[in-house]
Amino acid sequence: MATRDYYQVLGVSQGASDAELKKAYRQLAMQFHPDKNPGDKKSEERFKEVNEAYGVLSDPDKRAHYDRFGSAPGAGAGGGFEGGFGTLFEDIFENFFSGAGGGRRGRSRAMRGEDLQYELKITLEDAAAGLETKIQIPRLERCETCKGTGSEPGTHKTTCDTCQGRGEVRMSHGFLTVARPCPRCGGEGQINKSPCRDCRGEGRRRGEHVLNVKIPPGIDDGMQLRVSGEGSGGVNGGPAGDLYVLVRIREHAIFTRHGIDLLCDLPVSFTQLALGAEVEVPVLNGTETLRIAAGSQPHQVLRLRGKGMPRLRERGHGDACYRLLLEVPQKLSGKQREALEAFEAASREQQRGPLASAFIERMKKLLG
Ligand SMILES: [Zn+2]
Ligand SMILES: [Zn+2]
Repeated sequence: MATRDYYQVLGVSQGASDAELKKAYRQLAMQFHPDKNPGDKKSEERFKEVNEAYGVLSDPDKRAHYDRFGSAPGAGAGGGFEGGFGTLFEDIFENFFSGAGGGRRGRSRAMRGEDLQYELKITLEDAAAGLETKIQIPRLERCETCKGTGSEPGTHKTTCDTCQGRGEVRMSHGFLTVARPCPRCGGEGQINKSPCRDCRGEGRRRGEHVLNVKIPPGIDDGMQLRVSGEGSGGVNGGPAGDLYVLVRIREHAIFTRHGIDLLCDLPVSFTQLALGAEVEVPVLNGTETLRIAAGSQPHQVLRLRGKGMPRLRERGHGDACYRLLLEVPQKLSGKQREALEAFEAASREQQRGPLASAFIERMKKLLG
């Protein structure tokens, strides 16, 4: 094991006080704790490093030795070192093994089942109205033959003689005494001589569970509902994990959602904007009439109040919003052309609109 600079590992100066060391250690140990970083090898390594550094620097004798020689005292020369450090290490592994859900090798200890996630795709209409549906979840469930023990009914596990049921063996690595899971029993502390035939000694079996879930009106894409106790079954009598239903909302043909408002791009003609119009527009469940006032401008957004999405677990609805998209005809009939030319001729005598007037003012200024 290469020794890194212990002060660097903890991010403190060489003159750091005991309180500073403790504070740095706590912070780092929390940050890299395996429970918080399940399956992350790097964090696990950092966690061990941090513990190793603190184990040395928190002991005045070992720290003095380290400061003088740049290494921790060897296992033989350590004196009282082993006991103290072993305790620290054990504490860490205690936490490590009892980690929520992910515990790899418990000593026949009750372990909580894994949390599961289920992705449920729904339509925007369902999200608005709320939905009650059945979902089918594949999960590991407690084996009823052995009641989750993993042993054939009527038989018992025997204590592992390699580790005397402790589930771990201790090995010396230079100055470090490391507890490792027992290779014979895999850390269980017990040997299953007659594994349950139905679950092959796992205590759990693959199963499918049909569950009723209720999606509240107003749910948004990416929200999760927790269904407590409906994840995988626990091991050795531990509680089941939780099920998280991740709600995904399918893209809608007409609307995009902005919080509780719904937005729709509505193509309109120049005459509809100029003259005003009443048009039939889509809402989530049918159609409504939208009034476009005479003189409306392109990109203006008109609202139908209360026709948007419901607020989640609250009263009230958002709006349905219609952004006016001006569409200019790409081909004109003779009659249309005549009418437009007459319109243009008539427009010359008329006052310019505010946008055009402001633009011409700016141009005049620019050209002097
Ligand atoms: Zn079984
Ligand atoms: Zn063992």
